[in-house]
Amino acid sequence: MDRRPLAESFRETNQSLLELLDFLSALHELSRLDATETDRATLIEGALKGLTDNQDLERCSVFLLQDEQWLVNAAGCDWRDLMGITQDKKPRGHLFPVSEGLMGAAVTQAEVQYCADCATDPRFVHLPGARLSSIGSLICLPIQQGKEVLGVLNVSHPEKHHFGEAQLRMLRLFSKFLAQLLSNWQYLHQMERLVQSRTQELERALEKAKELQQKYETLSVVDDLTGLHNRRFFFPEAQAALSRAIRHQQPFSLIIFDLDHFKQINDIYGHAAGDRVLKDLAVKVSDQIRVGDILARFGGEEFVLAMPNTDLPGALILAKRLRQALQELSWTFSHDIITVTASIGLSALSARVPEGIVLSLDYILSEADQALYYSKHAGRDCITIFDDIAEFLIAEHF
Ligand code: GH3
Ligand code: MG
Ligand code: MG
Repeated sequence: MDRRPLAESFRETNQSLLELLDFLSALHELSRLDATETDRATLIEGALKGLTDNQDLERCSVFLLQDEQWLVNAAGCDWRDLMGITQDKKPRGHLFPVSEGLMGAAVTQAEVQYCADCATDPRFVHLPGARLSSIGSLICLPIQQGKEVLGVLNVSHPEKHHFGEAQLRMLRLFSKFLAQLLSNWQYLHQMERLVQSRTQELERALEKAKELQQKYETLSVVDDLTGLHNRRFFFPEAQAALSRAIRHQQPFSLIIFDLDHFKQINDIYGHAAGDRVLKDLAVKVSDQIRVGDILARFGGEEFVLAMPNTDLPGALILAKRLRQALQELSWTFSHDIITVTASIGLSALSARVPEGIVLSLDYILSEADQALYYSKHAGRDCITIFDDIAEFLIAEHF
């Protein structure tokens, strides 16, 4: 019995099995690739390496579709390598028109293009400088995910008619898996970009919110009309300054002043005239104080000035200067020349604090307020020092 056909068949089956195992190894390599890899070219190179390591082929490359009219070399052999022009590794990025050659046909027709003999096949584009002998067979497989063609997988061999039906079928499968991998990569990185851009938007919004918050905080401690600080700013600042003064046994004084008969200005010349007076007065008073003094609009036409590091005689000098500054101001409303005066109350940290009293800002404020009240009753346009009325109940007129 002639056993040769059986041996031949066994040899062929064995060969097919080995080819199948090789192909499964290539697929296995492909499945081990990580789509979260940042660089797409590195990912494709990994895929191609698995292919060249396990398949009988000479060169392979991936070109990706760009702007629907170009194929750009993304990884593997450069087109020059593919055409046998040079063995050197060329920089990627060469553009190949999608309208040309087998590669173009693979994309536009979304079908595998097999060129069994590149020397004679008219579809094969002979590039200038290509060594024809170096490339015998070429397969261009569309890398397709659903209906979308992402690019082309090129596989070549120097021998003519090298690739058989079985290898073609395996390469089709490989190209499908590669398409899946690339589309996963694309999806992941699109998501990443989306997350990045959303994060940036969020950071910008946060920045804006911070700016608004700062603006709001500034606005909420500043009086709209005069631009001076308001009570909200004054209390914590003055309290902190008073605490420091007590701790370091330094002087601390406080002035409260209230415009006299201010209501009349509003009544006679209108509210806008009253506003003008308050604004100008705020500027004038601000010019009189030192850095470190805390000035605020306390109420309608009432102002408060805390003076760290200023003792009673010093505060009195400033109170007189304030009074003088007000006298220098004048306005013309309805052809009348208007001036304003203020009643001033003054208090300072001193040794006369009754025992058992924890000296708070409220305490000193209430003293200054009583002194102001005294000034009003004493005829206005004057300064009263709380110590004077507290001990001798005498109002000082200036
Ligand atoms: P006194 O000498 O007793 O302090 O008399 P006065 O008229 O100054 O005091 P009064 O409390 O009777 O009136 C204060 C006035 O200040 C009444 C109010 O309309 C006015 N006023 C308060 N805030 C403002 C403001 O922002 N703009 C204007 N134009 N007027 C204000
Ligand atoms: Mg008043
Ligand atoms: Mg008042």
